[in-house]
Amino acid sequence: MRYRQNRNPSVFQKDMEELFDYTVEQTRSITAIFSAEDYSVLYISDNAEELLGVEKKDYLGNIINLLEMGTRDNRPEIPADIFLDRLNPGDSVEADVIRWTNPKTGEKKFLQGHIKRNIIEGEDIFFIVVTDKTDEVSRRHQMQEMIDVANAANQAKTNFLANMSHDFRTPMNAITNFNLLIAKNSENPQKVRDYTHKIELSCESLLGLLNDVLDMSKIESGKAKLNNEEFALGLLLEEVNSVVAFQAKGKKQEYCVHAGGMQQDLFKGDKQRINEILVNILGNAVKYTPEGGRIDFTITEEKALTTGYWDVKFEIKDNGIGMSKSFQETIFEAFTREDKASTRGIQGTGLGMAITKSLVEMMGGTISVDAEEGKGSVFVVKLRLPGLSQDQGKFWSEHGIRRILVIDDDLKECEKIEMALHDTDVEVFFSTSGYRALHLVDVSDEDEKGFDVILLGMKVLRLDCFEVAERIRFKKFRRQPIILLLTEEWEEIAEKARESGITDFLTKPFFMSTFQQIITDIVNRNLQAMQERENSIMGMRFLAAEDNDINADILTELMAMEGAIVVRAKDGAEAVEMFEKAEPGSFDMILMDIQMPVMNGYQAAEAIRKLEKEDAKDIPIIAMTANAYADDVQKAVKSGMNAHVSKPIDMRVLEDTIGGLKVNNEST
Ligand code: ADP
Repeated sequence: MRYRQNRNPSVFQKDMEELFDYTVEQTRSITAIFSAEDYSVLYISDNAEELLGVEKKDYLGNIINLLEMGTRDNRPEIPADIFLDRLNPGDSVEADVIRWTNPKTGEKKFLQGHIKRNIIEGEDIFFIVVTDKTDEVSRRHQMQEMIDVANAANQAKTNFLANMSHDFRTPMNAITNFNLLIAKNSENPQKVRDYTHKIELSCESLLGLLNDVLDMSKIESGKAKLNNEEFALGLLLEEVNSVVAFQAKGKKQEYCVHAGGMQQDLFKGDKQRINEILVNILGNAVKYTPEGGRIDFTITEEKALTTGYWDVKFEIKDNGIGMSKSFQETIFEAFTREDKASTRGIQGTGLGMAITKSLVEMMGGTISVDAEEGKGSVFVVKLRLPGLSQDQGKFWSEHGIRRILVIDDDLKECEKIEMALHDTDVEVFFSTSGYRALHLVDVSDEDEKGFDVILLGMKVLRLDCFEVAERIRFKKFRRQPIILLLTEEWEEIAEKARESGITDFLTKPFFMSTFQQIITDIVNRNLQAMQERENSIMGMRFLAAEDNDINADILTELMAMEGAIVVRAKDGAEAVEMFEKAEPGSFDMILMDIQMPVMNGYQAAEAIRKLEKEDAKDIPIIAMTANAYADDVQKAVKSGMNAHVSKPIDMRVLEDTIGGLKVNNEST
């Protein structure tokens, strides 16, 4: 199409133009011819308007406006007229690829022009063919992106290896050097203890690193499997909190756990892995928060839409160094660490968060982070877990618990505990006031029912919780457990609490699992104490028949270490004689070797039982046999002995045996 009317195209030229227009249309190229004098357009293909999104009327008079609309990458812009002026008649040039945004549709393209200048019939003219290079350029960009990603991954791995070898080398060096120091200071036990402790710490750090690397490679290769077992969230949180509270305390940070209103305790899932997720995030919160900072751990749960499932949300908030927005986008990628002044000197591999995210996703959950540099970070993990109903079975009756008293100013907490024990045989009484609680204790004592366990909150109306405990102890003879329900670190108040008669500590929020755990611990502890009391041989007197001097010395020594007295007889006959002559009650028990000269153990035991002496029939006699075959044991019983232990003597076995006989004797 021609726009200068003074030209008369020949028929041939017309055909050529049609053909040209067709080709241009097919290749989606734009062709134009314009004057070098005033940049007026002599010819432009029909597709220009549509492809460029600019109306012809805007550039027919001067094409420079149009040429200036594109933007070039990398190179400084040269005004189009100056660029064209640099081209001499007869020259042609491939222009730079420009980015073009269609002003009508907003579509973005990459275009490239091929320009030629020539003098035709005395007229100075530019020819330009503009080709759409969008596909080619995007392909190139894609390739470049892929190369960049591969390079970045390579770089990350190189950095990781450099970090790792540094991280591995630090504890390795410590181990090697402290080992040398131990060799040099082997005479100084205090130093040796100090060095071995430091070696232990380095070994732990090495092991942690190795575990991280192995864990990551296991997850990446898809080999990591999840357990699907029943677990109690309360116990899990207790484990996590004890680890994190300890770390936070080391940095004088405030560590606050908020989990009020939790109802569901039993779930199905991988407890160990959930523990790992939480300890990773909480551990980072401690690590990347300066001394004296604060960490808040909030756990909430709500019934999911899917029946039987619960949505459990863990939120970990710190007021530490925070992270830049750009780093937050890569935090969950393996081997990444934010490189800034405040993270330098803090040990790490950049694997923890990658492992954490993989684990969360393996469980079908989500993890997100929101942080502000210098202000702190918030991590949120959401897991959907199947909840299980708690079958408390005979737990309470088996542990001897029938009545519980709860004393706490928070009525909701009291009611929650009552609700949790609703389906059991346990009677729960509660009081928000200290005085009323003391009254309840009085009344229950009067009707001789008593409380088997007292749960005492830190805040009680009208009286200090320690005073309540003290007064209960004063009133009550029976030392039933008083468990303090805590909201803070118990170590701080442990001494005061123990002095006032509190026996145990339970951290709020109240979970059935942690409560049952503490009851089990208390019962086991009481049993153990009872056993120790029974087994104690302190102050007991033994007559021991033993012909071998060395064995006799060892026995006397071992028994003396436990506070018992051993009087030795050299053979069976001497034992019988010594027993006969001693005042009744002089000996608590007799230890009888079997193979002895003059009279063996069986004969001696028989002779003792036949003596006409007050305690001859009842005094427990324990056989000490080298071989405890069934017929030896039988012979011992037949000769009137009560028990046997095998030689060489194991003091624990001997004490257990003596304890058992003491109980039997006392009960008869
Ligand atoms: P690392 O072993 O380096 O701690 P992680 O994968 O656990 O590795 O964390 C990756 C990086 O994320 C850390 O190096 C740190 O830069 C940043 N980061 C993680 N948690 C926090 C946090 N609570 N506050 C600030 N930065 C954090």
